[in-house]
Amino acid sequence: MSHLLDRLNFLKSNRVGTFAEGHGQVTNENRDWEDTYRKRWRHDKIVRSTHGVNCTGSCSWKIYVKSGIVTWETQQTDYPRTRPDMPNHEPRGCQRGASYSWYLYSANRVKTPLIRARLLKSYRRMRETLSPIEAWTRLQNDPSLRADYTRIRGKGGFVRANWDEATEIIAAANAYTAKTYGPDRVVGFSPIPAMSMVSYASGARYLSLLGGTCLSFYDWYCDLPPASPMTWGEQTDVPESADWFNAGFLLLWGSNVPQTRTPDAHFYTEARYRGTQSAVISPDYSEASKFADIWLAPKQGTDAALALAMGHVILREFHLDRQVTYFEDYTRRYSDMPMLVRLDEQNGKLVPGRLLRADDFDDKLGQTNNPEWKTIALDHKTGDPLAPNGSIGFRWGEKGRWNLEEKSGKKNCELRLSLILEENHDEVVGVDFPYFGGAASENFTKSDHPDVLTRHIPVRKMTLADGDVYVATVFDLFCANYGLDRDLGGDWVSKDYDDDVPFTPAWAENITGVPRDRIIAVARQFASNAEKTHGKSMVILGAGLNHWYHMDMAYRGIINMLVMCGCVGQSGGGWSHYVGQEKLRPQTGWTPLAFALDWTRPPRHMNGTSFFYAHTDQWRYETLVADDIVSPTAPAGDWKEASLIDFNIRAERMGWLPSSPAFKTNPLDIARAAKEARKKYLG
Ligand code: SF4
Repeated sequence: MSHLLDRLNFLKSNRVGTFAEGHGQVTNENRDWEDTYRKRWRHDKIVRSTHGVNCTGSCSWKIYVKSGIVTWETQQTDYPRTRPDMPNHEPRGCQRGASYSWYLYSANRVKTPLIRARLLKSYRRMRETLSPIEAWTRLQNDPSLRADYTRIRGKGGFVRANWDEATEIIAAANAYTAKTYGPDRVVGFSPIPAMSMVSYASGARYLSLLGGTCLSFYDWYCDLPPASPMTWGEQTDVPESADWFNAGFLLLWGSNVPQTRTPDAHFYTEARYRGTQSAVISPDYSEASKFADIWLAPKQGTDAALALAMGHVILREFHLDRQVTYFEDYTRRYSDMPMLVRLDEQNGKLVPGRLLRADDFDDKLGQTNNPEWKTIALDHKTGDPLAPNGSIGFRWGEKGRWNLEEKSGKKNCELRLSLILEENHDEVVGVDFPYFGGAASENFTKSDHPDVLTRHIPVRKMTLADGDVYVATVFDLFCANYGLDRDLGGDWVSKDYDDDVPFTPAWAENITGVPRDRIIAVARQFASNAEKTHGKSMVILGAGLNHWYHMDMAYRGIINMLVMCGCVGQSGGGWSHYVGQEKLRPQTGWTPLAFALDWTRPPRHMNGTSFFYAHTDQWRYETLVADDIVSPTAPAGDWKEASLIDFNIRAERMGWLPSSPAFKTNPLDIARAAKEARKKYLG
């Protein structure tokens, strides 16, 4: 009988026996359908791979392959063990990764190059008689043929092409552009290295060999946290996620770990079982929030205010009312807190200027090598200014002093965070700080405070090469900026957390919506754990914050908390930041490959944001002028008249911002002319 009739034969029993005292039965029926499942899991071989989807998890997977097709995948379980007292990395993986092979064969995936039909038709016609570059040149030099495909840009009309044809057209077009306009007019954007270093290197190397321009990617789509290079001068360095386990206090700020760091989330769970305290800061009750001891839900985009208020509490309770020895030692040795800053006079008022440098002094404080790059502090023993080891001026031209030893020259010295206040300040002066929270916007509850807050600071008067100036330590300016009353008089400072003074917890409550007692509690727990563990308080930071305007302010508010509490650089402490973090271990070997340094240097680079802003004419439609965002304490300038593109151009001219194209002329013509001029000159 057929299988179909078999199945329709409801009334006939197919039972052939029973077992388990009649509770189970054995039947005689066709079970071929089970083969469907067996076939589903068949494979010829197993290979190791990961998912190049820019998640940066890079989990190791077993890929089961049948006749060249991925049929299924499971997690690898052969990671090396971590330290004996740490949980292992396994299992690593996530639901997105487990279904990745479906994406590979999805009907929606573009599997062939697509080219505008009209362009392809014209090119193929030219190619019947001409070489690739001649064909492209003819096409570009014929206005009607060119307009035929350029005027319908943005309207679709693509057809499939093959890879050989597509690469030929691109190569011909690039060669034509390099010859006619200059190689720096060939601009590209390769798949990002966080996703695949080799894929990135292929495109970047091609562009670099050609003399083309490699665009940055990171900043353009807002994956770059600029606070990192602003603070440390280097890009987004974070510990590996296993280090979460070593933390005593974990602050998850705008990061939904179970959802966005799925393969690492178990370290968070394991840390909690170990007894690590945790707070989650996120406007939504995210998957991470349920892990926390305390959940703070600030209004979106107000994180900087929250961080400033927490910093206010930490400075008050752990640096001023009581100075924690570990915090003092750390900030003195590893931060710029003891360094001196010049106070500049502006419209009869004082504002913080730049760091004081050795070359500001008549005798350059005895520094003959790079004195303009050496910052100054006061020696606790003598009260005299000196240039302690470690500033950037020591990096080149002399040996053995680009380190953080508390030395100046060959002599030991002893720095202090605020030597001025305690022992020998000359005066207490009012210094102006800009305040940006007084401007309301659609999504921001403004506070009722002026644009400039004058706060009192202890200063020393110094005679420098260009006259007498007031100087203050970074620490004293820092405390004043946080609105901390140190019995120096004046306005806009407070000892009471309930005062509505920027940046007290009460002030932050109005802006963020987070009750002040919760802000105070989290700040205390964070700092108190760091005090007891010598810096094992950690912030896990996510894209939730990074994609806001002024995210650098929010980040720097948080970095300040970590620095105040001596957390950065400690295992189990510091910041684990998860937007655009890259762990390019083989970077040194990879750079020559990616940028063709083995053939030519330097490569041409340009930031993508400026490129698209300038070259797609977005600047023409700009409604913002610098005056709308400039600091109220900025020096005089053409802030009202100049547009934002003007400042971009000035930065390019001053050499601060690599930009392409650099010349109106084809650089190949310039090089040719230079060669001929040299020949003529040498006869
Ligand atoms: S996190 Fe998920 S998508 Fe990323 S590599 Fe691991 S399994 Fe793949």
